[in-house]
Amino acid sequence: QPAIRLTGLEKHFDKVRAVDGVDLDIPPGEFFSMLGPSGSGKTTVLRMIAGFELPTAGTIELEGKDVSQLAPFDRDVNTVFQDYALFPHMTVQQNVEYGLKVKRVGKTERRDRAKEALRTVRLEDFGDRKPTQMSGGQRQRVALARALVNHPKVLLLDEPLGALDLKLRQTMQVELKQIQREVGITFVFVTHDQDEALTMSDRIAVFNAGRIEQVGTPVEVYERPASAFVAGFVGTSNLLSGRSAEAVIGRPGVYSIRPEKIRIDGDLASPAGPGETSATGSVTDVVYAGSTVRYAVALDAGGQLSVVRQNTSEPTEFADGRVRLRWRREHSFR
Ligand code: ADP
Ligand code: MG
Repeated sequence: QPAIRLTGLEKHFDKVRAVDGVDLDIPPGEFFSMLGPSGSGKTTVLRMIAGFELPTAGTIELEGKDVSQLAPFDRDVNTVFQDYALFPHMTVQQNVEYGLKVKRVGKTERRDRAKEALRTVRLEDFGDRKPTQMSGGQRQRVALARALVNHPKVLLLDEPLGALDLKLRQTMQVELKQIQREVGITFVFVTHDQDEALTMSDRIAVFNAGRIEQVGTPVEVYERPASAFVAGFVGTSNLLSGRSAEAVIGRPGVYSIRPEKIRIDGDLASPAGPGETSATGSVTDVVYAGSTVRYAVALDAGGQLSVVRQNTSEPTEFADGRVRLRWRREHSFR
């Protein structure tokens, strides 16, 4: 049975439908991400799972038990917030022990479990420090240890890396994933950062306006987006619409095509192969970015496409900037 099951979940704040009908099963041990733009309802779903908000409609089950109306401390769930919420006057060890103390766990067990949690987040030598003497990344790991020490069935993380700079954030992404694998706890991770979700997750739910547009593995969500919204939000996409779509693809509609799925060459004479779409155009801009090169191409049929190529050697110069673009038909999503 799933670790978490959400059925017809809704939350209304006056007239705002923050969560507007969410159905979701998350199996035990999964690193599951909720990805979506700001205001799409991710935090509200998380707060309902934690018990900080009660649903307007629908149910929340944890391991088959309906917890929809239970208080937060009666749910086998812990939350890690972006702002850490550590006690500044306590040492790291005391911060991590605090939850166990409240639950009246004995002194020796408290100390051993806190040490174990600090070892898990690779801070075993920092127990005597104050949070103020630590870096942002270290504080984040203390917050994680403080949640793990309770051995919850489910850990909820709301943009936990949002306050960190990019380099540290990328390091923490890898570490957090490793820690999740080690402890085997179900993680529900909220982020608006698509790279983060793609890197870390077993599966991703893409949120839009209080609903889930798609649930799938990173590969499924990226390679086979269920809607133009998902294609646009997860990764960068070209949109081709109106008359240029009809001229190039042969049917009306709005199509999205990923820049790295388009091949570019100067071979204007040879048409599209089987299963391919192709269009001719002129290069209007070349952006050299080290490992990749991005070409902006104005299509002869109208419209503009961006093409990204791995940078194997020097950027190719095309005669008079004239090019042919080709992509496999299954890579243009309607
Ligand atoms: P996200 O985490 O995806 O950014 P939220 O769940 O925080 O989105 O918010 C979803 C919507 O619900 C937003 O329109 C937000 O303004 C609204 N909302 C969230 N919490 C409250 C609240 N306590 N009172 C009123 N509106 C809220
Ligand atoms: Mg949020």
